[in-house]
Amino acid sequence: VADTAVSDIPRHDCDLLVIGSGAAGLAAAITARLLGLEVLVVEKEMRFGGSTARSGGMAWVPCNLLAVAAGVDDTLDAALRYIEAEAGPLFHRARAEAYLTNGPAMAKTFHENTSAVRFVRTDAVSDNHQHLPGARASGRTITVPPFDGRLLKGRLRDLASPLPDLTFLGMQIQPGRELTHFFNCFNSFASFSFVVKRIGAHVLDILRYGCTTRLANGNALAARLARSAFDLGAPLWLNTRAAALTVQAGRVCGATVDRGQERVMIAARLGVVLAAGGFPHDTERRSRASPMGSLGAGVYSLAPPGNVGDGLRLAEAVGGCTEDRMPNTVSWTPVSKVTGRGRPDTLFPHGFDRNKPGFVAVTRHGARFVNEAAVGNDFIRAMVQACLTDPVEGFLITDHATLRRYGMGIVRPAPAPLRGHLRSGYLLRGRTYAELAQQCGIDAHRLQQTLARFNRDAAAGVDTEFARGTTEPERRNGDPKCRPNPCLATVASAPFYAVKLLPGDFSTLGGLRTDEHARVLDAEDQPILGLYAAGNDSVSMFGGNSAAGGATLGPALTFGYIAALHAARLDVSR
Ligand SMILES: Cc1cc2nc3c(=O)[nH]c(=O)nc-3n(C[C@H](O)[C@H](O)[C@H](O)COP(=O)(O)OP(=O)(O)OC[C@H]3O[C@@H](n4cnc5c(N)ncnc54)[C@H](O)[C@@H]3O)c2cc1C
Repeated sequence: VADTAVSDIPRHDCDLLVIGSGAAGLAAAITARLLGLEVLVVEKEMRFGGSTARSGGMAWVPCNLLAVAAGVDDTLDAALRYIEAEAGPLFHRARAEAYLTNGPAMAKTFHENTSAVRFVRTDAVSDNHQHLPGARASGRTITVPPFDGRLLKGRLRDLASPLPDLTFLGMQIQPGRELTHFFNCFNSFASFSFVVKRIGAHVLDILRYGCTTRLANGNALAARLARSAFDLGAPLWLNTRAAALTVQAGRVCGATVDRGQERVMIAARLGVVLAAGGFPHDTERRSRASPMGSLGAGVYSLAPPGNVGDGLRLAEAVGGCTEDRMPNTVSWTPVSKVTGRGRPDTLFPHGFDRNKPGFVAVTRHGARFVNEAAVGNDFIRAMVQACLTDPVEGFLITDHATLRRYGMGIVRPAPAPLRGHLRSGYLLRGRTYAELAQQCGIDAHRLQQTLARFNRDAAAGVDTEFARGTTEPERRNGDPKCRPNPCLATVASAPFYAVKLLPGDFSTLGGLRTDEHARVLDAEDQPILGLYAAGNDSVSMFGGNSAAGGATLGPALTFGYIAALHAARLDVSR
């Protein structure tokens, strides 16, 4: 790698420069500070947290301290077999082993040695492919408890927001007990009083602070990581974009950054960690990276618009290579486009509704194409196959009773009004199946056949087409009150409703090739000295599959941790 010309612009010295302030970057910064290194985090946006602050905040860390304390039946060997089965030919044993041995160490170190990072178990989350060797139905995914945003003090307003459509009136709601209270609000006095108290506290927050202070999910994770990094003395420069890496004597030793209008040279004695969040908004790279990277239908990414692949470009300019053998480079989820509210369109990820009984997904041809409760990647893969040469899209269909019970997409359950969604065209309605089909442009005859068969199956509790509701995780995410199958109910109470589904995504899974120390590799598979990548800037270790809830944040936190450990000259591979 050629040396970079020495320049006379203003200079800032540190041991480790971290580019990006999401989970990977903040994990690297915390670890560096725990090891006594001088670190600097630069973030190009005006607010920190990246995708992490929008996320569910779940991290896949097999054999974590909480699972061990609870006596969960699991081993690192089983988790390794699961990663191998998911990754197939792209399995990288050394990386997987480094991840599995350092994941629990990262969680324990952060949990016990930082001011704000705390983990809790989330047993409702399973490995996504239960039939694969080594899979577990619970115990591997951890998350963080809600966080009091006031503890961020003056920096609360610097924290990136969650996706507004995933909040309720701006309140961040933790899945599980809290969400159940919101759903049962009009059926149970305890839930009603819980919701009233939450709304009251939220109104007070808005009056006093202008925003909510009760942070949950990924927003709480980003806040907890940042609070801890700040308390450890890690500086975070906002509005500072890394523009180019600096190389001296074949080693990456800093970067030039644009801090507002000023260009600054950062000298980083031990190296640079790329944690800039992958390339969800780089359409060109997405279509180049894999056949499914861009489906010709536009990019419907839930990641922040600033995640445009800067980290990958910075590395490539100094010889770094991306993994080009991935069959799929995107973490997919069906989304719907929310329009017509007098503000820019937003995307809503369909994760909750399609698990519930009484929802059916069909293509324009009127046929089902997937087990509606399938994980996002499998759902979209099936949608692509079913659409053949048509635009990749589908429709989620339900009836009146189900819509009012669970909502659908951005449409909230009763008593929330439907009128606005019908007027904007987001929600389509028909008094009969045929009328709904006409509204959506679906083959009416085929839709009638599909729903007739689905209703027969639902009544019998057996999905004869796609075996929905046959795995324990699916049944858990259904509705236990629905019998005989918690995932199946008829679509029979008119009127009927539909929302259009598009191929959306949470993040990219392709990225820079890295080794077990998080070092970026060149074309000869040799590490580029002083250059690390973590989070979505590095290639996923699951071969382009969606392995489990938390399968991007787990590695992001762990390889951020590993990068800083290695930079501090500790061999952590064994
Ligand atoms: C709605 C939603 C829910 C999700 N839920 C989960 C979940 O529960 N579990 C899970 O594992 N994953 C989840 N994900 C995916 C997960 O959020 C991401 O994979 C993860 O946050 C990526 O972390 P990161 O540190 O790599 O990047 P990010 O958190 O995106 O941080 C990257 C940061 O780098 C900054 N940056 C970019 N370029 C530059 C530059 N040139 N200079 C300086 N800064 C730069 C960006 O502005 C950004 O702030 C979810 C995603 C979404 C959208």
